[in-house]
Amino acid sequence: MIVSLSEVMQVTGGVFKQEISTGLENVVISGTAYSFLEKPQAVITASNLGGKKVKITLEGRTVLAIPCDRCLREVAYELLLQTEREIDFSLSEKERAAELDETDFITGYDLDVDAFVCEEILLGFPMKVLCQEDCKGICKVCGANLNEGECGCDRTELDPRMSVIRDIFNNFKEV
Ligand SMILES: [Zn+2]
Ligand SMILES: [Zn+2]
Repeated sequence: MIVSLSEVMQVTGGVFKQEISTGLENVVISGTAYSFLEKPQAVITASNLGGKKVKITLEGRTVLAIPCDRCLREVAYELLLQTEREIDFSLSEKERAAELDETDFITGYDLDVDAFVCEEILLGFPMKVLCQEDCKGICKVCGANLNEGECGCDRTELDPRMSVIRDIFNNFKEV
């Protein structure tokens, strides 16, 4: 979806407001595609501040399917889209790019809503998502989801961090 800012650019103080939809099926972050459980819904407001400056605000939300960091089960993650940008159209596209490196979603006076929303999702994307705070993860031996019950595998030797801690503890005891 492309939103044209050319009209709002003609009147200082002019405000343009529109509910937006995107044609996005998913969003690709670091090479991984995450699908939407609820597509981005947002309102874009563009205010002409005068002097060829425009303030653009985006306000809305989306729900993404993100795998749990430990057990890989899909988690519905709500992401709020909330940002405010000031674009200076008196600068050339090149100058703007150098100044902000974040205006790839604007060409001429056209605002590429999909690209804008994608960038906001990228900025707000969580480092880590857990299905529950005390998610037990998956068994490294058989791959069972340990939240659904203990599989009975012996996993004590498989975690190198644990053996390091145990070695330190044993050395400490010997002193
Ligand atoms: Zn989990
Ligand atoms: Zn197991």
